[in-house]
Parts: sequence; structure tokens; C-alpha cells
Amino acid sequence: MKLYSTNNHSLRAAFQTAVFNSMPADKGLYMPSFISELDTEFIQNIERFTLSQIAFKVASVLLQDAIPSEDLQSIIDDAINFEAPVVKLEENIYVLELFHGPSLAFKDFGARFMSRVMAYFLKENEKMLDVLVATSGDTGGAVALGFLGIINTRVTILYPKGKVSNIQELQLCTNGQNIRAIEVDGTFDDCQALVKLAFADEQLNEKLRLTSANSINIARLIPQTFYYFNAYAQLKRQGIEDIVFSVPSGNFGNIAAGLLAFKMGLPVKQFLAATNVNDTVPRYLETGVYEAKPSVQTYANAMDVGAPSNWVRIMDMFKGDLMAIKHLITSYSFTDEETLAGMNQIYDQYQYIACPHTAIAYLALQHYRKQANSTDSGVFLSTAHACKFLDVFPENIKSVIEIPEQVKRLMDQPKIATSLNNNYQAFRSYLLEG
Ligand SMILES: *Cc1c(COP(=O)(O)O)cnc(C)c1O
Repeated sequence: MKLYSTNNHSLRAAFQTAVFNSMPADKGLYMPSFISELDTEFIQNIERFTLSQIAFKVASVLLQDAIPSEDLQSIIDDAINFEAPVVKLEENIYVLELFHGPSLAFKDFGARFMSRVMAYFLKENEKMLDVLVATSGDTGGAVALGFLGIINTRVTILYPKGKVSNIQELQLCTNGQNIRAIEVDGTFDDCQALVKLAFADEQLNEKLRLTSANSINIARLIPQTFYYFNAYAQLKRQGIEDIVFSVPSGNFGNIAAGLLAFKMGLPVKQFLAATNVNDTVPRYLETGVYEAKPSVQTYANAMDVGAPSNWVRIMDMFKGDLMAIKHLITSYSFTDEETLAGMNQIYDQYQYIACPHTAIAYLALQHYRKQANSTDSGVFLSTAHACKFLDVFPENIKSVIEIPEQVKRLMDQPKIATSLNNNYQAFRSYLLEG
């Protein structure tokens, strides 16, 4: 497999390089230099295959010879050891549940696959890999649990003090082993700035082998294509083939993966990009003017992104053709008020509990069906378990949200985090003192 930079198509990097660097030096993003389609025979018979088989097929076509088949299959089976079921709510309305992994969010797909790919490429006796990650909540948990116990790696997670949910904090601070949490007296942006300073610090990079685990890494994107194909397989078993996918979007990695699946031959009628009031993309599709903005805090805080980093990948896949993008992607944004109303509505109508992000995808689907007078089957993606966002729910729903066993177990564990001021020298010394 060869990858290019979205800024420079003549650059060619191997998969291994792209995984450890995360980003090309020209600050573009890595994309496969050629996207092959799956054979039509496979897609026509996809309902006969399991998630593991589908994932292997899709990954083999994308990665080509980057990882030998046997190793690739074991990486996939170790990483994706949970289900991604499609649940029917009513005729033509389905929810794709992506929260059955260890951190209870869809980011487990990306983080677990990436950690295992990195471990695979780490040669014996090589310098320990120092993974740095700033999180507003969900990324940190997925990365922590993804790398937990992976030899020759050490993960340092920075999170903003008092700004992550209780369960998110437990997932960050109860791991021990090779996972360390730093509670920063500041915002998520401050955490991210500290990590960026560390990557730009030449002296530090001579001493430590730093790598980033953020969502722009191509090894996080690839496994997210698996569940789109697998959702299609589940619906095809029920005789349904015309599908609209509604994707709650922040950094636009999830929907970029869906579009990559589409480019690989997945039949999809329409993608809906559903956002909160951080509406850079819906505004762009409406006006043709791309204008990133500082992020605004919302109930769906994992989507509080004003400058979605994966958008350049989507532009790249469509060669910058705005008309082609608009033909395939419809985008909607919703306020907190609407989000809360959506959460209530899903509960009242279906007794289904959707986290705020998931509710936004549901609302987009509803709007689209009305607007386009569409009778196609709609699948909205559920990106996190509701218990991660308890505080957003009204009392009547909150009181019936079940806390999964794996979270209950964390509740008895001591939280261990190092407190740091928003100060680079302090962070730097922490890293060097090990
Ligand atoms: C990260 C996240 C999103 C946004 O996904 P992107 O790939 O950044 O668009 C949506 N919902 C939840 C729960 C998340 O954690």
C-alpha cells in the first residue's frame, strides 16, 4: 500500500511510515494513493460473511501487501472483538450501534486497530513508543484501553480538569500499567497545544520516540470502513439494499470512512453529515464558502469542532468537486435544544436511549426523510453509550440508563492522575522524568 499527502499527490509513503508519523511533513493528511473497489461478487454475497470476514476482506484490499494475511487477520480479530449490530426501531429506521467496545464509543474501532498495527510494526528491542494524546473525553478512553498492556508502548493522556464526564474520567484514570493520565488546569485546546509543543520540540524528540494517536491517523480511519460494510450485510439479510447513512460528525473521520467505503464499492444512496451548532461543513455545503470557526461547547461535546480536520480527506476523495459532494452528502446542524428534544422523542417513541451525538444523527435522518420525501431505509450511527453523557439527560431517562458491567467495575478503583498547570516546561519535565 502506498499513501500520498492530500497536499502533494506525488509524495509516496509506506503504510508503516504513515502510521507512525500520523501526518506528512507538509501538514496534509495521508490518503491511499489508489482506492481499489471490492469485487462485485463479494458485495453481492456480503450477507454470507461475518464482521471478521468482511473486515479482513476490506482491509486486505486497502492495505494490499502492507501486512501479510495471517498477521492481518489476527490483528483484526484481536482489535474488533465486539459486535456492531443494526437495531430496527421501526419500518425503514435503524440504528447502527457502535458502542459495544471497551470504552463504549465507536472510537474503539480506530484506537484498537491502530494500537495493534503499531505494536506489529514495533520491532523487538526498538525504543519504546511514547504515545501522546489530548482528549476532550472519548478519544482518551479509547486510546487508553486500546494500548493497555501493549508492550513497548507508553501512553500519556492529557485531559481538561473538570471538563470530562465522570465515566470518561474513570476510563482515563484507572488503567495503570503503561497508561498515564494528566489532568491539565485548562481547556481541551490547552491540552492539544501542549501536545503540539512536544511534537515540535526537537530536543525532546531526540530523547523520546513520540507518536500521536489522534483521529487523523490513517490506521484509525481504515477500521471504521468495516462497520459500514457490515451494516449493509445485516440489512441485506433483511432484503434491504437502498440505504441512507446518517453520521454524527465532529472531526468528520467517521463519515470520511463511510465515503471511503462508498469509493470501494459499498452501495449507499445518501450520506447525512449531522452536526451540532459547530456547523462549518453544513454552511460550506450551503454557501460554497469554507470558513472554519472556533468551536462552541454543546451537549454533544465530542463533536465540538470548528475546523474538522478530516474534511480535506473528503475533498480529496471527490477531487474538490463540490457538486459531486453535495450530490452524495446532505448536511444538517442542530442546537442543544433540538438535541435534547430529539433524545426525548427517541425515548418516548421507541423507548430507545440515544446519547446526544446519536440523537443529532437521528434528527438529521428525520429531516432528510421529510425533505426528500424519502422512503429509503435510514441507518443512523450511534457513536457512544448514553451512560458516558449522563448529565445531559432529563431525570426520567437518566434514571433508567443502565451502567454496563465494565464501567461498574471501574467505580471501585482509585483514580490516578497527575495534576499539571497549563505550562509546557512542567509537561516536558514530566515526560523526561518518565
Ligand atoms: C468522536 C465522536 C464523534 C465525532 O466523530 P468524528 O469522526 O470526529 O466526526 C461523534 N460522537 C461521539 C460519541 C464521539 O466520541
